[in-house]
Parts: sequence; structure tokens; C-alpha cells
Amino acid sequence: MRIVPGIHRIGDNSMINAYLVEQDGEVTIVDAGVPGFYRDIDRELATMGRTPADVRALVLTHGHSDHIGFAERLRSERRVPVSVEEADAALARGEVPNPSKGYGPVRLGPVLGFLWFTLLHGGLRTPKLQQVATFGDGATLDVPGSPRVILTPGHTPGSAALHFASLDALFVGDAFATYAVTTGARGPQVAPFTADTAQAVQSLARLEEISAGQALPGHGEPWTGGIDEAVRRIRQAHGKSG
Ligand SMILES: [Zn+2]
Repeated sequence: MRIVPGIHRIGDNSMINAYLVEQDGEVTIVDAGVPGFYRDIDRELATMGRTPADVRALVLTHGHSDHIGFAERLRSERRVPVSVEEADAALARGEVPNPSKGYGPVRLGPVLGFLWFTLLHGGLRTPKLQQVATFGDGATLDVPGSPRVILTPGHTPGSAALHFASLDALFVGDAFATYAVTTGARGPQVAPFTADTAQAVQSLARLEEISAGQALPGHGEPWTGGIDEAVRRIRQAHGKSG
């Protein structure tokens, strides 16, 4: 579905998000969701007036399995280069365990809904990446839209937000979520399955100076209330003023 001109989302709802970003007729995919999203890519490209040949790159916000879903297939079948922040490369390749400390608070209905969605979209057997390029904090990536990388460790060590200034959009990955798949809570919040919550909250300081009309999370609907306001709400929930 179209979010704003130049930015589309794959998937039937906003439980797990992968995005198509267009600049000058070329496309960068941000995150790869779950494997079952693969079949939706071409249809979504068509609604943008684009074809599979227009896809230049897949950039991952971090190495969690619900973000690398179709990455290996896209890489091996279509030769689309895949990249991730260097601190998450081993996670994306399946060489280290998920650093997450478990589910955190859970409500049965939402968590079952998430597991069911994941199961239906092949997310219980996500292929690990056989090859992945890396980038570092502060880099401007040579992919359509030229996003700037802002490292936001906490959710995972290599969690990175991607700022597409020309599209007025900040892709935050799971640096924060607007829907908690484990509790059903909506609005800006620390994402479930975060390895280090205190660090994740601290990392938000790196985002709050950014002005972007759209904050696009890995889970949940776009946030259009300003990055600074999202950060303020999350800090407040974690007992820090400002
Ligand atoms: Zn994650």
C-alpha cells in the first residue's frame, strides 16, 4: 500500500513492515519482513509503476529474523545487494544467537496473533543471509534515496535508523515501534524483543534532532507526530523527563 508518494509498504497489515522507497525511478527496499512477503514485492512495485529490474538494493535496519525474511531469496535469485550495520552482520548471517532477553510483558491475544501471522508468512523458517555487505554509523548509502545511517544500539547492537531526507522520512526499524506485537499497545514505545532497554532509550537522543514528516517503524503504523514528540513519549514512559 502507498504511504506517501515514493514510499510503499509490503504486507497485508502493519504487524511486520517492509518498505519500497522510490527515487528517480529506482527502488530501495527497507527491511525484508517475513519470507512470504516475497510474492507481494512485484505487485507492489507495479502499483508504483515500477518493475523488479528497478530494485537496486535491500537495506536492513537490523539483523532480526522478522526483518530479513525474503532477503536471502532476493539476493540469490535477483542479485539484489543486501546490507546491514556492521554490528548486526553476524546476527543476519545466523552466526550468533538473538541478543533479545525474551518477550517482556505479554498479552495472549496479541502474541498469538503475531505468531499466527508469522507462521502464515513462513517466518518460522527464515533463511539466514549467506552474504551481506555492511555499513557504519554516519554513512550515506549509495542506494536510491541516499539514506543516512544513524546507529541506535539497544534493540540489537547494530540497529540503525535510515534517514531519507529527500523523502522527509525516517525508517526507524525497531529503534522504536508504534505497535507492540506482544501486548497490542499502540503508539511510540520501545519495541518488544529489545536486548538492552536502557540503551535503546538512550539511543533515541540520536534521533530527536531529526525532522521527518514520517517515522516508519518495523512494526505498526507510520508516526507523523514528529520524531521529537515520539522520543518525549517514550522517555516519559521510562521515567525520564525531557
Ligand atoms: Zn527487531
